[in-house]
Parts: sequence; C-alpha cells; structure tokens
Amino acid sequence: MKFQTIIVGGGLAGLTAGLALQKKGVSCAIISSGENALHFSSGTFSGDCPEEIVPLFEEAHITLKGDPSKDSWRLTPSGSMQKVRLAFEDITLYSSQKISASNVLIANPEGFIDFPTSFIADGLSQQGISCKVKTFSLPCLKTLRESPSEMRSVGIAKKLDGCIEEVAERLRGLLEGEDLLILPQVFGLASPEPVRALRTALPVEIAFLGTMPPSVPGIRVQLQLKKAFERAGGTFLMGDTAVSAEIADGTVRLIRTKNLDSHILTADNYILASGTFFSKGLSSSMEKISEPLFGLDIDCPSERTEWYSEDFFAPQPYMAAGVVTDKDFHPLKDGAPISNLYAVGSILAGEKNAGMALTSTFKVIKKIAL
Ligand SMILES: Cc1cc2nc3c(=O)[nH]c(=O)nc-3n(C[C@H](O)[C@H](O)[C@H](O)COP(=O)(O)OP(=O)(O)OC[C@H]3O[C@@H](n4cnc5c(N)ncnc54)[C@H](O)[C@@H]3O)c2cc1C
Repeated sequence: MKFQTIIVGGGLAGLTAGLALQKKGVSCAIISSGENALHFSSGTFSGDCPEEIVPLFEEAHITLKGDPSKDSWRLTPSGSMQKVRLAFEDITLYSSQKISASNVLIANPEGFIDFPTSFIADGLSQQGISCKVKTFSLPCLKTLRESPSEMRSVGIAKKLDGCIEEVAERLRGLLEGEDLLILPQVFGLASPEPVRALRTALPVEIAFLGTMPPSVPGIRVQLQLKKAFERAGGTFLMGDTAVSAEIADGTVRLIRTKNLDSHILTADNYILASGTFFSKGLSSSMEKISEPLFGLDIDCPSERTEWYSEDFFAPQPYMAAGVVTDKDFHPLKDGAPISNLYAVGSILAGEKNAGMALTSTFKVIKKIAL
C-alpha cells in the first residue's frame, strides 16, 4: 500500500499531523498500536502551543480554551493550582493562581474511589475557601457498584452520559448556595454534549477535575481526532504495530506492520510519533535506551547510574531521553540524517509536554505540505 505520508503513532502528535496533512491534501496512513498519553491526560496542554492548533481542533469539533502563548491556571485534583496554556472545554481556567469562589461543593458518585475528594477539599481550605464534600447516587450506577473494577471513570461516564437530566436533578438537590460545584471528569465520553448540558442545567459554575486514569476527556478527544482524520480521507490502522522498516541510502524504503503481514507500506515521507517508554516509542534494557523501529540515535546519559536521580522528587534524566534530529527534524542514525523520516512529539529528546509535541508537529507539517 502506498501513501504520501505514513505516520507511526496515533497519539496527540500523530493524529494532529495526520489531520493537518490530510486537510492540506496529503494522503496519510496512521499506524496506531494502542494506548497513548491522551488516555491519561489531565485535559490541559502545558508549554508554548502553536496558534494553528485551535482552528485545527475546531475542525474535529474540539473546543480548546485558553491562550496558546500565555499561561492560565487550573485547579488540580490535589487541590493545588497549576500553570497551563490550553484546556479541553470541561476544564475551568483562571487568570490568576487564586480560584474565584468562596463556597465550594465537591460532589462525587457514591462508591467512586478514583477521585481524591479529601485532597481537593484540603487544598481549597488552605486557600481559605469553604468546602463541603457530598456523594450522589443514581439507579443506573447500582450494577457498576457491585463490581469495584467496573466502578471506574469510563464505566461511570457510559452510564451518566445517558441520564444527564437525572444527574442534574440530583445535583440541584445537593446545592446550598455554593458558587462552585466540583465534579469528577466522568461525563462526556463520546461527545462534549453531556458536559455542556450539565453546565446549562445547573445554576452554578462547574469545574470538572481529573480522576485516576483513564481520562474521559482524553479518550473523547483522541476519538474526535481519529474521526476527523478519517472524515478527511485518512487511513487509520487501529491496533496495528509497525514492527520493522527498511532503510537504504539514507532513506526509509518501507515499513512492515504486525497485522498486514506480507503487505508492505511505502510512502514519500514517514513521521515517527511513537512517544516515549510509556507508549513503547522508546525501550530500555540494563545496558541502553533505544528506539526500537529504526534504531535511531538516542540522546541520554551513557552511564545507567546517570539515568535517574536518587532524589525521588527531582526531575529524572531518563525522562528527557529521546531521538536526536537535525534542524529539520530528520532523525539521525549512526550520526547521519534520514532524509524522508521526521520525528515529532514526545519521542524527541528534551522536555516532554503537549506544547512541545504540537510545536514540533506543526514545524514538520509545514515542511511536508509546502
Ligand atoms: C501518562 C502521561 C500523561 C501526560 N499528560 C500530559 C498532560 O496532561 N498535559 C501535557 O501537556 N502533557 C502531558 N504528557 C506529556 C505528553 O508526552 C504529551 O502531552 C503528548 O500527549 C505526547 O504525545 P505523542 O503523540 O508524542 O506520544 P503518545 O501520546 O505517547 O503517543 C504515541 C503513540 O504511538 C504508538 N506507537 C508506539 N510505537 C508504535 C509502533 N511501533 N507502531 C504503531 N504505533 C506505535 C503508541 O501506542 C501511542 O499510541 C503526558 C505524558 C504521559 C506519559
């Protein structure tokens, strides 16, 4: 199968690249083996983000709040405030480090243990904000509660998204004049409509805070990007893994995947957006950190003892490991750039956040779609 561009990795960087390139008339295939960082996302993007991301995401019906180049603040599930640039629409952003509320209700579905209500309440109390924690229950959650493994964010969202009016009625009954209602991110799995409907139905500002993974808004955004990519004519090879590649004379000649077996994939350009250790874009043994598909050059300390800091809370050097590229994002192999391969996103050596992943992606989009 031949495409103009083949992208390895269907996370934030790969999907953004695929959608933007398809929109510019470049035929793309994305090979996507599985879970990515969006599934664990806080719903916010840190680091300088490119301006182009906001209109591109609108094409996928994803509304991003905030300013790509200016900090806003969000309340975290530990009750502290964190600087961010952009956020999915579920998230409430503040212009300063102090939230504009004095009386808060935290409401949690009864039996849901993946939402740290007491951390949030403690954090808010330290800011001098009065805070109550209450639980609510609905008949549709009864079957989930019978099995603790089912009582997770995604399972709850599947149930609650179908009965938002009932949820709103329960929550209305809990309110006692508070000026902020905090809820776990267990709404809006397939679309943001349930989040919008709750905001319309209740007479109070609502802040949706992250739960333990998986992230409901992260899964939704990944699905929305995938759908938009496919609507634009892209080919998404879901659940497939790029297992080997052939390189000759400094160019990638083909890629083989696990599911396509004897069929080879070829393209004019290839983008590596396979993430870090978490997504198997990088792997490590006792001796070295490596990039498993192309065997690219890696920037990381050579001595294993320097991969980590003994101070558990310090930045860990191995987390900045990644592939080395030239100034045009062509990765190096044995010191020489591969001319039709680009690396984008968190597989690049250095700082890892959504802003950096998106900035590298847009730079490469401009190089491929001149
Ligand atoms: C758990 C976690 C949570 C994070 N949360 C945030 C956050 O809230 N905000 C923020 O700003 N930053 C966050 N980050 C930083 C994150 O690196 C970036 O935000 C960004 O999402 C990374 O996107 P990516 O596409 O480069 O990589 P990933 O999201 O890791 O995507 C890589 C994809 O490539 C696939 N893949 C790997 N190898 C192959 C192969 N051989 N064949 C096919 N597919 C392959 C993987 O399965 C995966 O789907 C988080 C990082 C992690 C690890």
